[in-house]
Amino acid sequence: MTCYGLKEQPPMGARSTQESLKKPGLRLTRQRRILLELIDRSGHHLDAEHLYRLAKERDPGINRVTVYRTLKLLKQGQLVDELDLMHYDGDQHYYETRLKQEHAHMVCLRCGKVEEFFGDPLRKLRREIETHFGFQILVARTEVGGYCAHCQVLRVREMQEAAAQAPPPAPPARRRR
Ligand SMILES: [Zn+2]
Ligand SMILES: [Zn+2]
Repeated sequence: MTCYGLKEQPPMGARSTQESLKKPGLRLTRQRRILLELIDRSGHHLDAEHLYRLAKERDPGINRVTVYRTLKLLKQGQLVDELDLMHYDGDQHYYETRLKQEHAHMVCLRCGKVEEFFGDPLRKLRREIETHFGFQILVARTEVGGYCAHCQVLRVREMQEAAAQAPPPAPPARRRR
């Protein structure tokens, strides 16, 4: 999975993991710290299984249940964001740092590539929604699904190949009474 910002890069490190952990209400345990650091440092969107494997490399004693529970806590504590990325690969959820500037996700439903966009297009969309609906937006989580440029080309080729191989159309079936 690749992901990168078009236009502006997010200002990383505006808030550090350490600062996030100082938020009241969420006690810092070693395992929480490990997971939060993994998510903050990854430029990607990692699912719980992937995070579990990475966390286990750091702390062999960590178990799957703890990872899932910790992710839930980090989400509730607003330290990480949970995404489903259009469920392009099943039911799992993906986690990403809240240290990034607000952005939207474009998910390719064919190859699973995830691209992010920041900046003007998103601000414009926000403004339009606020103006149009008189709605004050506090948080926006935008995901769109479709085909990336590469997959669009491949799909055209696949459809042409399929059309070339297709048997001639069958005569219309006779209507049953
Ligand atoms: Zn694609
Ligand atoms: Zn993202």
